[in-house]
Amino acid sequence: MTDELLMKNILMILLFIFLGINSCAQEVKNHPITELSQTNIEMNNKIVKSEEEWKQILTPEQYQVLRQQGTEYAFSGQYHNHKEKGTYICAACGNELFESETKFRSGSGWPSFFQPVSEDNVGKEEDRSYGMTRIEVHCARCDSHLGHIFNDGPQPTGLRYCINSVALGFKGVKD
Ligand code: FE
Repeated sequence: MTDELLMKNILMILLFIFLGINSCAQEVKNHPITELSQTNIEMNNKIVKSEEEWKQILTPEQYQVLRQQGTEYAFSGQYHNHKEKGTYICAACGNELFESETKFRSGSGWPSFFQPVSEDNVGKEEDRSYGMTRIEVHCARCDSHLGHIFNDGPQPTGLRYCINSVALGFKGVKD
């Protein structure tokens, strides 16, 4: 083998190694799993934000209830005595939560409903904080805390969705 031929072979090997590395890099860049996870977020209609982002969007009162499972003082919110016709929405993401027709006077000082717009729009979880066992209710789209569910509501469900005013927005029928 001449020196020239040896040099050509070495160059060819280096070229193959370079092409190999480059095609690996392309594969990582277009990895289907990355695309799939983005699609899933859109398909599930879920809203996922960091706590820093929520702090930018929400007022301190909203953040304390929605993102830190806080509870506003009874009779302190704007909706416990609110009687307009319309739809109550999640204050964090706008997801439709309760219709005014399902709101009732509970005397608790928090807006109270006997059923959500759809069971798909809210999520429920057991909450054992403060020495009590309660059912926590949150927005199914952005996972923000809304309030708790109790078994002393009116028919047809017998449930009382006890919701913080500060966790809600309102869309009137004329809006
Ligand atoms: Fe939400």
